[in-house]
Amino acid sequence: MKKIIVTGVTGQDGSHMVDYLLKNTDHEVLGAVRRVSSGNQQNIRHLKDEKRFSLLDLDITDSQNTEGVISEHKPDYFINFAANSFVGNSWDMPVSHMETNCMAVLHQLEALRRHAPKCRYYNAGSSEEFGDVVFHPQTEEHPLRPRSVYGASKCSARHLVKSYRDSYDLYAIQGWLFNHEGVRRGEEFVTRKITKGVARILRDFETGKVITPLELGNLDAKRDWSDAEDFVDGVWKMLNQSCPKDYILSSNETHTIRRFVEEAFNFTGFHRSICRWEGEGLNEKYFHGKDCFVVVNPDLYRPADVELLLGDSTKAREELGWEPRSNFFQLIKKMVDRDVASAIYW
Ligand code: GDP
Repeated sequence: MKKIIVTGVTGQDGSHMVDYLLKNTDHEVLGAVRRVSSGNQQNIRHLKDEKRFSLLDLDITDSQNTEGVISEHKPDYFINFAANSFVGNSWDMPVSHMETNCMAVLHQLEALRRHAPKCRYYNAGSSEEFGDVVFHPQTEEHPLRPRSVYGASKCSARHLVKSYRDSYDLYAIQGWLFNHEGVRRGEEFVTRKITKGVARILRDFETGKVITPLELGNLDAKRDWSDAEDFVDGVWKMLNQSCPKDYILSSNETHTIRRFVEEAFNFTGFHRSICRWEGEGLNEKYFHGKDCFVVVNPDLYRPADVELLLGDSTKAREELGWEPRSNFFQLIKKMVDRDVASAIYW
């Protein structure tokens, strides 16, 4: 039985990766968690009786701890989804972002080189690395032009991964994953914030309560959103090629935050035809009759935003045979349905 270490298993991508591996392979999966994450295990609670899955303690910012874990287990695959993944927070915690998203990758590569050089390594990369984009859609050839500390940390890690691949012949890769969402997405991300907000507003509307509008920042930003469950399949395919290569995973569509809001309300019966946007810029609001559902809060704007992301995942589709199963509308419906069903418990 092969051994796979997955970091970040309490988060969205790590937990979906573990589910995928247990379903589609016969390998043993070790989920790496920091002790501080151990109280936050709702995404992996369903795995408690899985015989091929166990947890191990790992603080990825600790080089000795990382080396100890890798030398003891000598994994066949190491999938690094642990990260400080919220762009908006990266200006407030720049050092922590660099330590977690970049230095930790160096500790992992160094330990793998010394103790498990045959291990296949994946580090989570991001479309935020393209940042201030110069052409559309973005392909693997797009230059790295980060606009945030988060983006810079992922670019730095990318250079390290490539150096180790070139210098030591490691199977080490870093995909560019465009925005990917789902019911395990944290509420700090705009999609989940919207679907939870929509569910709360529907509940309050139906029970005759006063409606507190959902507060959002930049409504004009455009993102290329996919379903996170589709992406873990792409990551596994990237890890199992004859030679290591970095690929983009994306839906190849882009939509504004405003559009996401409209579609999310649409799925709860507040159809676009009976709702309306009024005002402009910071005064823009979304109404249903007299009820105000969405307002803009200038504090939620970022010091520097990436205005438009649109991926081109042709290479992954052609070379890996990867194909997403969900589209933009299916993704929103899935998230809204889940949040509407649980809103009575909040
Ligand atoms: P990111 O693309 O990884 O930064 O994912 P996010 O979901 O955090 O943000 C996507 C876009 O939504 C960015 O352009 C944000 O500026 C924009 N946005 C607008 N309002 C909000 C908000 O209230 N929260 C977040 N997180 N993003 C918002």
